[in-house]
Amino acid sequence: MSDCIFCKIAAGEIPSTKVYEDDTVLAFLDLDPQAPQHILLIPKTHIQSAADITAANSAVVAHIFEVAAKIAAEKGFSDGFRVVTNCGEQAGQSVKHLHFHLLAGRDFTWPPG
Ligand code: 5GP
Ligand code: ZN
Repeated sequence: MSDCIFCKIAAGEIPSTKVYEDDTVLAFLDLDPQAPQHILLIPKTHIQSAADITAANSAVVAHIFEVAAKIAAEKGFSDGFRVVTNCGEQAGQSVKHLHFHLLAGRDFTWPPG
């Protein structure tokens, strides 16, 4: 998607502070952190949201969760973190490229706001 900022970040056309990268997944720091640790995990291919995950593209989603666990272990917050994806306008999705927020370093309330 030529006008998608996360596709541009995945392609290196917009700079980001990378935390992890492989052929299919990129993790980078959120520009506007909501916790002491706030990392975004994205598939490099464009998937609009969690509503568009199918049997054909879900392997990368499983891989994203493996990467999240690896990052949590490396950064020392395996015992307390949250993974969130906002899907659609009502849930507050502002970037229409599937992404998972990996948040840690503070207490989190439940239910979320
Ligand atoms: P959403 O609101 O869609 O769930 O999350 C989008 C996230 O992307 C927000 O937390 C926002 O701070 C982050 N974000 C938006 N544009 C950029 C950008 O250009 N670079 C980085 N690193 N984060 C971004
Ligand atoms: Zn995209």
